[in-house]
Amino acid sequence: MIAKKAIGLPLKGLRFAIKSGDTILQNATVQATRFKTWFDDAKAKSALNEQPTTKRSYASTANPSDVALNDEAVTLNVRELEFKKAPINWIPAVILVSTPIAAAIITPWYLMTHQVSTPVWGVFGAFMVWTGLSITAGYHRLLAHRAYKAHPAVRNFLLLGATLAVQGSSFDWVSGHRSHHRHVDDRLDDPYSAKRGFWFSHIGWMLRNYPSGKFDYKNIPDLTRDKVLQIQHKYYGLWVLATNIGLVSAVGWLVGDVWGTLVLAGLLRLVLTHHFTFFINSLCHMIGNRPYTDTNTARDNFLLAIFTWGEGYHNYHHFFQYDYRNGVKWWQYDPTKWLIAGLSKVGLTSELRTVDDATIKHAEVQMQFKKAHKTIDSLNTDLPQAMQSFQERIKVEYDAFTQTIEEWQALKAKTVEMKKTEFADRLHEVDDKLKHEYAKIEKKIHEHNDNLKTAFRSIGHSSRAA
Ligand SMILES: [Zn+2]
Ligand SMILES: [Zn+2]
Repeated sequence: MIAKKAIGLPLKGLRFAIKSGDTILQNATVQATRFKTWFDDAKAKSALNEQPTTKRSYASTANPSDVALNDEAVTLNVRELEFKKAPINWIPAVILVSTPIAAAIITPWYLMTHQVSTPVWGVFGAFMVWTGLSITAGYHRLLAHRAYKAHPAVRNFLLLGATLAVQGSSFDWVSGHRSHHRHVDDRLDDPYSAKRGFWFSHIGWMLRNYPSGKFDYKNIPDLTRDKVLQIQHKYYGLWVLATNIGLVSAVGWLVGDVWGTLVLAGLLRLVLTHHFTFFINSLCHMIGNRPYTDTNTARDNFLLAIFTWGEGYHNYHHFFQYDYRNGVKWWQYDPTKWLIAGLSKVGLTSELRTVDDATIKHAEVQMQFKKAHKTIDSLNTDLPQAMQSFQERIKVEYDAFTQTIEEWQALKAKTVEMKKTEFADRLHEVDDKLKHEYAKIEKKIHEHNDNLKTAFRSIGHSSRAA
C-alpha cells in the first residue's frame, strides 16, 4: 500500500513556525552582526553534507573529543550505508513506475481511437482541480501546518480528494512533511532532501525503504487523535480503490463514458497530479529566487506555482510555514490561498493565520543586505567611484536599519508590558495607540527597502536575492 510512504512538500522545523515572528526579530540584530561568520559556517556545513566522513581508527585517538567525533563519523557512515542498501518499497514503486508508463501509452492511443465527449473532459478538469487543491489546501496547509480551521464538510471533502491523489494516508504524508520542514536539506533526516539530487527528492525517496522515510507518527499527535483520519489511515488501500476505481467509474457512468473517464480523470489525472506535487520537493528546492531566507534550498518560482496550485512560492513557505498563503503578495498566483480566503467569507474556513507585513518586509530587507554585503566582499580594494559610494550607502543604511529593528523590538516589549498592566476593557485603546507606532516602523522598513533598491540600481544590479 502506498500509504507506507507519504509524498510531501516543503520548516526549519515546526519550531520555526511557532516562533517565527518574535524569533526572527530577536535574531535580526544578532544575525546581522554575525553576517560573515554565518556564511563560513554554512559553507562548512554544506561541505560536511556533500562529503561522507571517512572512518578513523579508535586506536590512534588519544583525545576524548576525537573519540566523540569518531563516534559521530561512524554513525554517519552506518546511516549512509543504510541508504545505499535500502530495499525496494514494492507497492509504491510498482504504482509510481507503472502509472506514468501506462498513461504515456494508453492516453494517446485512447484519444486517437475514441471520441471523448466534452463532459468527460469536464470531469477530468474538475478532478484535476479537486485532487490538486485537496493536497495543497487539505493535507498541506490544513493538516500539516494548521494554517487555518475548516468546517467538517470542507475538511472531509478535501480528505476525499487527497485520498484520490494516492499520495499516502494523511498520517504518512503529514508526518513526512513535518520531518521535511524540521530537517530541511539534511541528507539523513529530510525524507526528500534536495541535497540528494533531483531524482531522489522528486520520486526516488519513495521507491525504496530509506531510513529517512520511516515515520513514527510522534510528530503528528494532533492527527492520530482524530477518528476520521484514523479510519482513512487504517483502510487507506480500500479508500484508494474506492475513489480511484469506484468513484471515477460511477462519475463516468453518469456522463455516459466509463472507460474514457477512467483513462482521463482516473489514470492521466493521477499521474499529472503526482508529478505536479513532486515538483515542489524537487524543482522548488532547485530553481528560483530566495527573497526571504538562504538558510535552506527552498525557492520561489512563479512558473512552478502554476503547476502546483500556488505552492511554488516555496522560499516564503519554508520561512513562514504557518501562513495560509504561500504566494504572500496579493498579485502572486496562489489559487490555494484564494480558495481558503474565499471559503472564509462564507464561514466555511476560519482562523486564517498570517505573518504581519512588517515581519515579511524585514526578512526581505535582511536578504537584500546580505546580497549587498556579498557584493562588497567580492570587490577588490581598487574601487571605482560608483562602487565606493555604494559601499558607503550600504554602511549608512545598514546602521539605520539596525536602529529601526532595535526600535521595533522595544515597541514589542512595550506592547507586552502595556497589555499586562492595562485592564481588559481598555485593551482596544492600547491597540489604537500602538497601531500608529507600528505603522511608523513598517514605513521605515519600507524606506530601507527603497533605499537599498536605489543603491543597487546605482551599480547596475538588481536587489533581488538569487
Ligand atoms: Zn509545508
Ligand atoms: Zn520544501
